[in-house]
Amino acid sequence: MNRADLHTHTTASDGLHKPSDNVRMAAEAGLAAIGITDHDTVAGLDEARQAARTYGVEVVPGVEISTAHDGQDIHILGYFADDRDPVFLARLASQRRVRDSRNELIVARLNELGVRLSWEAVLDAAGRDRGPDETVGRPHIAEALVRMGAVSSLQEAFDRYLAEGKPAYVLPPRIAPAEAIAWIHEAGGAAVVAHPGLYGADDTVEALLRDGVADGVEAYHSDHTAEDERRYADMAARYGVVATGGSDFHGERKGRVYHGPIGSRSADADVVRALMGRAKDRRAARLSDSPGDGGTASD
Ligand code: AMP
Ligand code: ZN
Ligand code: FE
Ligand code: FE
Repeated sequence: MNRADLHTHTTASDGLHKPSDNVRMAAEAGLAAIGITDHDTVAGLDEARQAARTYGVEVVPGVEISTAHDGQDIHILGYFADDRDPVFLARLASQRRVRDSRNELIVARLNELGVRLSWEAVLDAAGRDRGPDETVGRPHIAEALVRMGAVSSLQEAFDRYLAEGKPAYVLPPRIAPAEAIAWIHEAGGAAVVAHPGLYGADDTVEALLRDGVADGVEAYHSDHTAEDERRYADMAARYGVVATGGSDFHGERKGRVYHGPIGSRSADADVVRALMGRAKDRRAARLSDSPGDGGTASD
């Protein structure tokens, strides 16, 4: 098997397993490569890279950036961006500040609804030992709601309160998808539109793939139907972008794996090379655009 699962979450965001555990599970699943794509943070990458040496699996450094278009959450995956780039890191930090205030608004909204959830309880659910660059997300709020007995499962927490359109859903002021793509490109990475099948907005997705805005689209995803997968693979071919795939693994709770087990969705390992090639092109473009070269760089 020469496969790559390019979408997994760790304890650096709302995953349940440490980055090194994801890498170990990828090895056990026989994968050649695993992407670490936490929400709005690259805090899990160093540990994952370390584990790559132990387990003999290639780690594809990634991030999943939250954006919005027309009031709809759109996630953009970034691969091979320079996670030491101070500008990129400052941009991700700004995303986390927006996320933190969104989380507080969700808790306030829940209290208005009569659900007496405290922020402390959310932090308990998220794990008190979180690093400063690790993110708290709705699954942690859902977990806190389960622990206080307000709901009986994470899914019920989303269905009753937290999902889009539900009473405690809060859409914060988010950047546009094209802005996240530009951030990733400026950090020398390749940008991929995550799980397009979840948006019901193929026009938006196509607009991002047209004219080389994004480098790829996540055709294979745990929440996609076979028909979705075909449609987005065709779309990738039509626009000459990379068709990626991943499980969106968040871990297993009470026998249920969110969104799928590691390796349950994947792409051919060649796709990793294609993303790396795209990232290299972005890096070259960044160098020739950089100020201070007198504007005479050849193209
Ligand atoms: P956040 O980035 O904090 O808004 O949380 C997003 C995460 O919540 C996603 O990665 C999913 O794992 C989870 N999620 C979002 N919507 C749902 C839903 N309707 N049902 C279950 N989980 C969801
Ligand atoms: Zn998540
Ligand atoms: Fe996502
Ligand atoms: Fe995800």
